[in-house]
Amino acid sequence: MRKKLSLLTIVLVCLMGGTYFLFIKPFSHSSLNDSCAFCDPAILNNQKFYEDDLVLALYTHKPILPGHCLIISKKHAERFEMLTDDEIAQIGRVIKKVNQAVMKVFGTSSYLLLQKNGLEVGQSVPHVHFHYVPRKAGDDSTIQFIIKMYIANAKQPMSPEEIRETVEKLRQAIE
Ligand SMILES: [Zn+2]
Repeated sequence: MRKKLSLLTIVLVCLMGGTYFLFIKPFSHSSLNDSCAFCDPAILNNQKFYEDDLVLALYTHKPILPGHCLIISKKHAERFEMLTDDEIAQIGRVIKKVNQAVMKVFGTSSYLLLQKNGLEVGQSVPHVHFHYVPRKAGDDSTIQFIIKMYIANAKQPMSPEEIRETVEKLRQAIE
């Protein structure tokens, strides 16, 4: 019975994973910077907690788990291979800084990095972005974590006040 249940759970999670990629709203290849969320000054002003010449770090408005950040190129580039070597190196450095800051603010211990290139793998915003999703020891089970990833897009966004508070804490924590 327990075996059947675990099998059923695995099948359900696989199905959900599949639909995640199918139902995510694809962007149009004709969309230019003016319709790109990560080039929108209003979004950047509200969610940005780090900036240098090449890279920005934002707090996402629909976190999969508390501490979920986005590390993006400052330049509008659709895919990873369109970045320069300097931009790629700087993104790596900023991911390390973000990790330090998030561990301090949220008390997390592990993290997942996720970056998609192209419609077929479910890229939703046509601007290079790395998801940094942290977890604490003793958090949800892995299945609960996968389900949270699946439903993150359907979640209510955080309120502007909540985002402002979190962004301020991260701004102070990042070195
Ligand atoms: Zn953009």
